Amino acid sequence: DTVVLLGNGGREHALAVALSKSPLVGKIICLPGNGGTQSEGGGKICNATTDMLSGSGGGSSGSSTPLTTMDNATVIQLVQAVQANMVVVGPEQPLVDGVVDELAKHCPNVKVFGPTMAGAQLEASKAFTKDFLQQHNIPTAKYRNFTSPDEAIAYVKSLDIPNDRQVIKASGLAAGKGVLLPTTLEETIAAVEEIMCDKAFGSAGDTCVIESFMSGPEASCLAFCDGKTAVLMPAAQDHKRALDGDMGLNTGGMGAYAPAPCVTPELHREIERMCITTVEKMAERGTPYVGILYAGMMLTPNGPSVLEFNCRFGDPETQVVLPLLETDLYEVMQACCDGTLSSIDVRFKEQISAATVVCAAKGYPETYPKGMAIHGLESASAFENVKVYHAGTKVEDDITRCSGGRVLAVTGMGSNLTEALAASYKAVKQITFEDRYWR
Ligand code: ATP
Repeated sequence: DTVVLLGNGGREHALAVALSKSPLVGKIICLPGNGGTQSEGGGKICNATTDMLSGSGGGSSGSSTPLTTMDNATVIQLVQAVQANMVVVGPEQPLVDGVVDELAKHCPNVKVFGPTMAGAQLEASKAFTKDFLQQHNIPTAKYRNFTSPDEAIAYVKSLDIPNDRQVIKASGLAAGKGVLLPTTLEETIAAVEEIMCDKAFGSAGDTCVIESFMSGPEASCLAFCDGKTAVLMPAAQDHKRALDGDMGLNTGGMGAYAPAPCVTPELHREIERMCITTVEKMAERGTPYVGILYAGMMLTPNGPSVLEFNCRFGDPETQVVLPLLETDLYEVMQACCDGTLSSIDVRFKEQISAATVVCAAKGYPETYPKGMAIHGLESASAFENVKVYHAGTKVEDDITRCSGGRVLAVTGMGSNLTEALAASYKAVKQITFEDRYWR
């Protein structure tokens, strides 16, 4: 079969590698892909090129130009031209832009792994998700949604802050930056104004969610969903801060590991139950949910509570969760698209842990240099139990160069987390490029 995979991060490289292991998959075409997906898996994995659109390409002619846009029209054209059997959507933006709905309309015989625009609301609208969670008794922090800044500020003033501390969130997509954690009343009011009046996150702040502050460890819990039910993968924990000791700015994620010991088997079952309820209730609304449901959980003293939902795989969580999957990923995705997830046994490797360390360009998540040549990829990849996933890379004249802030995600495996992390760092130390850093 032929799979078209949308996205260009470490997440997509990990998805491509996992899909390439399936004997059912002959070709994985990444749009736009990165330096790692340009040629891998014995030629099974490649990046989309313009000549593929005419049906003539196969990625073999070295002179063809890479396809770089991921808009719905290009995706449909590519899927039709290469006669894809399945489309897998990595990032949230195409989902929120309705790529799944458009594909269903124009390519009805192609399986699409990802939620429709209506399903993607679980990520695109925090206000929608909070109402949904409350309505279906799924644990989440106490909250109110506001569209009027005056009403939001009056509400905040009516609370006993700082004792009853609040978190202020832009409801819409804000690239992971739309959540403010003020401590005093003054800061809380300023946070509301920043989001609702100054529009620090644009129209994402037209609606604002004000919710109670909770504390506890956090875990990323990703579930496969088939429109009817959900199967939870081993929980992961990611590390958002740029620097050692959890210092520095928030990033897209500097590393992750799985399984996260804080999610005990009992908590795992409880969280899976919440995901199943979510999928069942989405189906009852007439908006069946297919793809990945990513539940950002906080393990509070009163039990697990939903912080947020994402409608796709996490990055870098994917780079530690997929290597643990024992069942054929393509078969699982097919079952999700067909609504037959309950008929297959989704298994994960036991007694194995995975840890990934992101090698970033100095300055990330702010401004950082690009174009530096990357050395040592071969010796890093030569270690057993290590996989180097590319994120912000591109290959030019056979030289792999940096093209983004998060450059590589180096995953190590071991019989426990310590071993997995040691394997990852051992490989990371083989890799050099100017101005690199990791934590
Ligand atoms: P992401 O980049 O994870 O998609 P996001 O912008 O969608 O982030 P959330 O995940 O909802 O936002 O929140 C970001 C972070 O803010 C959480 O990981 C958590 O650390 C903190 N946070 C959010 N809600 C609360 C809360 N109610 N109490 C305490 N901390 C919170």
